[in-house]
Amino acid sequence: MTWTLAQAASEATREVQWNTVPAMIWLMYLSAAAALAVCCYGFWRRLRIWRLGKPEIRWDQPWRRLKLVFRAALLQANLFRDRIAGFMHISMYFSFMLLLVGTMVVAIHHDLGIPIMRGYFYLYFQSLVLDLAGVWFCVGLIIALWRRYVIRVPRLEHGNPVDGLILAAFFVIVASGYPVEGIRLVVTGDIWALWSPFGYLTGLALASIWDEPTLLVIHRVMWVAHMLSWHVLLAAVPFTKLAHLVTSPLNIFFANLEARSIPDPVNFEDEQAVAVLGIRTPFEMTWKQLMDLDACTECGLCQSQCPAYAEGKPLSPKRVILDLRDHIRANADRYLAAGRARAAGQQDVFEQIMAEMPPLAPDVIKAETLWACTTCRACENICPVEIEHVPLILQLRQNLAMEQAQMPEGVAEAVQGLEVRQHPIRGATTGRTDWYRDLPVRVMAEVEDPEEIEILYWVGCAAAYDERLQRIARALVRVMNRAGVRFAVLGDEEQCTGDVARRTGNEFHYDMLARANIETLQRYKVKRIVAHCPHCLQTLGSDYRQLGGFFEVVHHTQFVQELIDSGRLQLPASLKEKITYHDPCYLGRYNGVFDEPRAVLDRLGVERVEMTRAGRRSFCCGAGGGHAFFEDHAGGKINRNRVEEAVATGAGTICTACPFCLQMMEDGLRSVGAAEQVAVKDFVELVDEALAAAEAQQEPAAL
Ligand code: SF4
Ligand code: SF4
Repeated sequence: MTWTLAQAASEATREVQWNTVPAMIWLMYLSAAAALAVCCYGFWRRLRIWRLGKPEIRWDQPWRRLKLVFRAALLQANLFRDRIAGFMHISMYFSFMLLLVGTMVVAIHHDLGIPIMRGYFYLYFQSLVLDLAGVWFCVGLIIALWRRYVIRVPRLEHGNPVDGLILAAFFVIVASGYPVEGIRLVVTGDIWALWSPFGYLTGLALASIWDEPTLLVIHRVMWVAHMLSWHVLLAAVPFTKLAHLVTSPLNIFFANLEARSIPDPVNFEDEQAVAVLGIRTPFEMTWKQLMDLDACTECGLCQSQCPAYAEGKPLSPKRVILDLRDHIRANADRYLAAGRARAAGQQDVFEQIMAEMPPLAPDVIKAETLWACTTCRACENICPVEIEHVPLILQLRQNLAMEQAQMPEGVAEAVQGLEVRQHPIRGATTGRTDWYRDLPVRVMAEVEDPEEIEILYWVGCAAAYDERLQRIARALVRVMNRAGVRFAVLGDEEQCTGDVARRTGNEFHYDMLARANIETLQRYKVKRIVAHCPHCLQTLGSDYRQLGGFFEVVHHTQFVQELIDSGRLQLPASLKEKITYHDPCYLGRYNGVFDEPRAVLDRLGVERVEMTRAGRRSFCCGAGGGHAFFEDHAGGKINRNRVEEAVATGAGTICTACPFCLQMMEDGLRSVGAAEQVAVKDFVELVDEALAAAEAQQEPAAL
């Protein structure tokens, strides 16, 4: 008996297209061909739009790129940034893929005449796995419906009827699939029916209500509904958010592997490159930026992390992407016509068409939306498909700032300061070098042999000119002197790195300052730089590379840990304070420095408590992207939001590692009336305090 069953199982299969008539089969092939044609046409149109963009090389290191795709698209690793949404997506994605493979197996078996749908493969995969996959898909679908229509997750787009239609089409596919399978199993008395448990149960339930002739009619109706809903969905893919099934893996493959979140430099000597400054139309975007717009899955994760959005400012990174996408799609024919004219050398026709098109900023994306961005990278960090919001926002700002002279008053003043005094600090009453007059600090220009200097200390404008922030620089100098570090500063030769100019779209001023600083650093053959300001760290270490300035730049948190690890600095575990550490965006998300400051704080013996949003998910202080220099009156205060979270930890001190964060935290504490209870200190001030206390204790002992 066992042998007979095993033999039968090895030959198990089923009849394909059972209970159909030729008209149904014709309808299936015709609608499949039409759906495929519409789908290809839709993607072809998208491809033509991407081709309007400027060239950009994004196919180096193909293996690394394929690994990214494998991790993100196949393992869906990025999606678990939100567990419930991740589970929902993974359920629908994998079960959909399994069902798709199942359909292809049927086509190979039946249409190509290769008999693969048989035996144990038929029983285990084609029957059992696909039967369960349908249920798994239903679980995902129910979660999707519950999130969208019951709890109405705010970060999702609501009110778009197409999204509802997509879910309805999925529902019809699943709801018709089980009756089709179940009726066949029951009516044919299939001996392998139990291998398709849910289909079989459906068939038994239907058979308990209707007789066989009625079941045969229901089967045909369901078969047509199942088949047509598949084909309609296939045709709709490139025209709906389902396009991300194709565009997301592509976008991940072409992700930026190197310096992220910084715009490409502008060659101001190239007349063509400066004909339009920044992005005014899709023609100034790269093909990858245009592809980004089509890759958006509309998941809203970026919006959920955006500090500006959280504080009710007129910015949602998701809407920036979608509004640009919708505008370009709505005007695709005109942009394509302009592209054809340009390719044919008909510059006048091109200009005529483009003269009628509005500038993307401020007509499609409002100026206040762009200025609300703090460039914190929270959006890019969470985006599951590697969309790059920040360079796009900065290049739109470039057009506003450099071509249309539209920028907040404070930004204009800061940029004017850069032009006149090479620093953006308003109302500075001291000179750049006054802060270290009474400290043993060497200046590069006075060092006889620059080779003997192991570290150049880049002070930055904030700590050079602001009285409170000068305490950070002084503390770092004392710590380095204790460790016997041979360091020097540039003194009056140091100019602003240009960070504020670059992040506010004033690329011309950035370019000027960056080139001057690179020239100075190269003249002194500087190899290694320490900066306590994460904005300087980012600009010197990453942005300058685009202009040929290659320097090793470390943050003071990293450097102090290095000094400890090498035994040059012995830290006492004497700070018995409750401290919470705030991750600066430009240190953490931009440069991946999360552990070093925490490790040093732990060595100091502090009771370290984390805020809810910490590390990669840290919440911005509100100062980045030039916001330290202008008052953004729209919405609430980002720094207030952050200090409320810090105060809730019960910590007596907020430790920061960025002078701008420090200022924002102090302002925030004042605004919530907690400035007396909670102190804000830079990381190195705590290190310096602990060392000074230990020395003070040792001195009487030595006496
Ligand atoms: S960089 Fe930060 S502030 Fe700007 S859009 Fe992204 S999340 Fe919002
Ligand atoms: S940009 Fe990325 S994170 Fe934002 S909605 Fe689109 S896919 Fe989601």
